[in-house]
Order: sequence, then structure tokens, then C-alpha cells
Amino acid sequence: MELYLGAVAIILVVFVLPAFLTFRKEERAARLELEKAEKAGRREPVSIRPWVDAGKCMGSGMCVTACPEHRVLQVLDGQATLVNASLCVGHGACVRACPTRALELVFGSDKRGVDIPQVGPDFQSNVPGMYVAGELGGMGLIANAVTQGMQAVGQLMKGRPATPEGGVDLVVVGGGPAGIAAGLHALKKGLSVRVLEQDRGGGAVRHYPRAKIVMSRPFRLPGRGPLSGTITKEQLIDELNAAVQEAGLDLREGVRVDGVEKQPDGAFVVRSSDGDVPCSRVLLAVGRRGTPRKLGCGGEETAKVAYRLLEPEAWSHQHVLVVGGGDSAVEAAVSLADVEGARVTLSYRGAALTRPKEANQQRLAQAVEAGRLRLMLGSTLLEIGEDRVSLEVDGVTEVLPNDQVFVFAGGVLPTAFLKSTGIHLERHFGKRIEAG
Ligand SMILES: Cc1cc2nc3c(=O)[nH]c(=O)nc-3n(C[C@H](O)[C@H](O)[C@H](O)COP(=O)(O)OP(=O)(O)OC[C@H]3O[C@@H](n4cnc5c(N)ncnc54)[C@H](O)[C@@H]3O)c2cc1C
Repeated sequence: MELYLGAVAIILVVFVLPAFLTFRKEERAARLELEKAEKAGRREPVSIRPWVDAGKCMGSGMCVTACPEHRVLQVLDGQATLVNASLCVGHGACVRACPTRALELVFGSDKRGVDIPQVGPDFQSNVPGMYVAGELGGMGLIANAVTQGMQAVGQLMKGRPATPEGGVDLVVVGGGPAGIAAGLHALKKGLSVRVLEQDRGGGAVRHYPRAKIVMSRPFRLPGRGPLSGTITKEQLIDELNAAVQEAGLDLREGVRVDGVEKQPDGAFVVRSSDGDVPCSRVLLAVGRRGTPRKLGCGGEETAKVAYRLLEPEAWSHQHVLVVGGGDSAVEAAVSLADVEGARVTLSYRGAALTRPKEANQQRLAQAVEAGRLRLMLGSTLLEIGEDRVSLEVDGVTEVLPNDQVFVFAGGVLPTAFLKSTGIHLERHFGKRIEAG
């Protein structure tokens, strides 16, 4: 009997107890992540998200492990739970990993509807001659965007009106993976094409964290060799740039499209910050992430204001103001503060920074403590001048020397722009889609 009890005790101590403790630790971590996601407003999806069938889920956690973006799902109370919905990009790895088929990918949630343009199987919208490809059409992922960009070009060539005078056959709006692939394919098919990109070519890929491994099924850009799913963000950007340059694609960066007008003869005029472009066909490949939100203060249109930080080293010995209260703002401010001689101020209108990840909060606190960064909470940027900025704090205006301003105030969704083009949108509150 004693021997039996001893064996049971050994089993309990060696196997059951560690497993129980690990389980408790994981459950605590999952709850913490849920709290953080709630505070940071990450519980609603940008577009796609997993939906869990509670009746089928047995809490194996395989979906959590399989997700390449991590932290989207967590196991809580023995069930897979959607925690950081806004981090989901639609890999569908969770759906494939689930042993009980308890997961599906859906658009939107009951709280946040997602607007998807009405598009036919030929990628044509309800506006004849205006096509849609890539993530804007609802299906995320690079390989899908590339494939759709090329397929849409194949369709839009059919029966197109003559090239308008002084214009081109095709204007592609958006220079992400879908827009670049479409532009390259159109060139190969002998069309005259111009790709208009408000930022820089590469689309959402440019905004991935540094050195992120791009997870993708193999795909091929027109005229290039196959790309596998184990390249870094930087390698993919290099590959996109090389493809554009070698093909001589007319990709215009820093050009924002504000409107598209249909002409009586069936052609279009695309209104852009670089002027009007007449064309026979329009392909919208603007993604779903939107345009950086502006602050609306005086001087914001000047060249020294940017909405993204690519090379912090360029700001050595400069006075830099970063505006925003999320992870992007804090990450930018801290990396600038590490640059030799940079004088960095982080301005946020709220009384406390609650959204950034704990690791970012810690890095920020260290930089402030070391005197490398000034944090101005409760401050509002009033005016951006040539060599200075003025901010209001507690009713008092403070003027700071300034060479550069970085604004991280979130994004404006493309909904209004799409509606202005005449495209019909359908709002989805959890519509089921197939995993990619
Ligand atoms: C953090 C993160 C990680 C991801 N990781 C992966 C991954 O590992 N693997 C994967 O397959 N997918 C991943 N994705 C998803 C993938 O990046 C997107 O599905 C893909 O980039 C969609 O391509 P797109 O060309 O349709 O749109 P986008 O890449 O969003 O490009 C749209 C472009 O249009 C431009 N634009 C918008 N409006 C206008 C306008 N009015 N005028 C001019 N230009 C305009 C934008 O500036 C942008 O450059 C990730 C996404 C994110 C956010």
C-alpha cells in the first residue's frame, strides 16, 4: 500500500503538479494579455478574424501555437478565445491547426462591421470599368493580393475603351503587393500603366516590424522567380523594388488619389495630388489599412512632417517631436532617443500612456529617466513652424526648437473614398470566408 501511495505521490509531484503549474501560469498570462488588449482597443478586428465554435473547441491550444502573428488567440477557461483581434491578418493557420474544426475565419464582428466592396468574379465593381484587387476585396495575405492583382488585369483588358488622349490604359491606385503585381502584369500584357501610391511602394509590408519573417505560401511576381515563405520583410521590399525597376514600371510614390470620375465615354479621370490622369480602366488596390490620420494643426502640410519612421539614424543631432500615444509612437520615440545627439520629445494629449505594450512602456521609462527623451503628457500640438513647434500644456503655450515631426495618430479607413467613387459597399458582421 505504502509503495502504491509513494508511486502516486511521485506521479503527482513529477508529472501532474508541473503540468498544473504550467497551466496556471499560461492561464494567468492569457488573462493579462486579454486585459491589455481590452485597454488598448485591440479586441475588434481590422478585417478578418477567427470565430470559435464553443461547442466544438476542446481548448487544445493548437490554434494559439500555430498563429504566426502570436497573441491573436489565447486559451481561457478551457476555450480558445479571441484576444487581440486587430492583430489577425488572415493566415488561417489556426483554422488548419484545430483538431476539432472549431474555428472559421470571418469578416468583422457583431460590434464592428467591415465594409467590403461589391465585386463580381471578374474583380469588377458595380461601376463598370472600375476593378478591385487585394486586401480591399476582403481577402488578406500577400500571395492572395499578388494573384488577384494579376487576375484582375487579365479581366480588365477585355473590351476596354480606347486610351484617352494624354492618359494611360490603366491607373492602379495603391502600390502594395496587389498594385505592384497588377502593374507588372499589365506592362507584360502591353498596356500603358501608372501606379499611384500615397506613401512608398510595398504597402502594408513596409509597416511590418523590422526583420519580420514573412509567412506566405510560395508566390511569384510577374517576371521574377518564385518567392518562398521564409523571407524577411526587408528582402521582400528589395524584391518588389527590383521587380519595379527592372520592368520600368511607372510607380509614382507620394501621390495620393482623392477621387475617380467616370466619363460619358466609359473612360475615367483619376484625381490625384500629382494632377488628373485620364485612363480607360481603374484598378483599386488600396488595401484596408487606410491613410494616416492627420492632426489638423497649422503647418502639417510641410515636408518636415512624416507619418512613419524608417531610418532613425538620419535624425542624429536634430530636434524631433513625436506625436501619439500608441506602440508606434513610443517605439519611434525610443529608437530616435537612442540616436546620437537627437533631442526627442514625445507629445500625447492623454494624461497617461495606457495603450503601449509593457516592454515599450519600460523602454520609454528608461529613456525618460536617462534624460534621452522628454515626455509631454496632456499636450496638444498647435502649430508646426519651419524651425520650431508650439504645444499647449495645461493652458500654457510652449515653443520648442524643431527639425522634424513624426505623427502616429492611427489611420482613416478608405470607406469615404470608395463611396465617393460610386462603389457599393456591403457591411459584414461576421460573414464566413474560406481560410487561405
Ligand atoms: C503587421 C502585419 C503583418 C502581416 N504579415 C503577413 C504575413 O506574414 N504574410 C502575409 O501573407 N500577409 C501578411 N500581412 C497581410 C499583408 O501585408 C496584406 O494582406 C497585403 O499587404 C495586402 O496587399 P494589398 O496590396 O492588397 O494592400 P496593402 O499592402 O495594404 O497596400 C495598399 C496600398 O495602397 C495605398 N493607398 C491607400 N489609399 C490610397 C490612395 N487614396 N491613393 C494612393 N495610394 C493609396 C497604401 O498606402 C498602400 O501602400 C500582414 C499585415 C500586417 C499589418
